[in-house]
Amino acid sequence: MIPKPKVQTPPELRRQADEMFSIIIRSQYAGVNGKEFCFVCGICANWHHLQCGHFLARGNYKARYSEINCKPICPDCNRKQKFGDKEVEEKFRDKLIQMYGEEEVEKLKKDYKIHKLYKSDYIEMIEKFKIRIGELQ
Ligand SMILES: [Zn+2]
Repeated sequence: MIPKPKVQTPPELRRQADEMFSIIIRSQYAGVNGKEFCFVCGICANWHHLQCGHFLARGNYKARYSEINCKPICPDCNRKQKFGDKEVEEKFRDKLIQMYGEEEVEKLKKDYKIHKLYKSDYIEMIEKFKIRIGELQ
């Protein structure tokens, strides 16, 4: 008997999308030696050792997969950011403003409201991420 294709649930798709998006965020600016800088404190590490930091918490699905909102950051800064460390948050914000301008960062905040993603959104996103990751390698 032919096994039925495995149907993925939205949480599984979300996990897969998160993992892929994290790879894109952490590796896209890495040098040929795999080194990357923490967006907040500037420490240099292999991108595998950095994490995908969210300026606005990832409970918001629009911000969760925004390349403006997400940057490679070190585990230390990420932990502080999650616990609401003001210094890390300010540095994160300042660097985002330097990079995109204040208007863009404010817009991100305005978009910061519950935005539900459906199974089809995840599937579409995962397909796009696959292409991005292919281009990065
Ligand atoms: Zn850091």
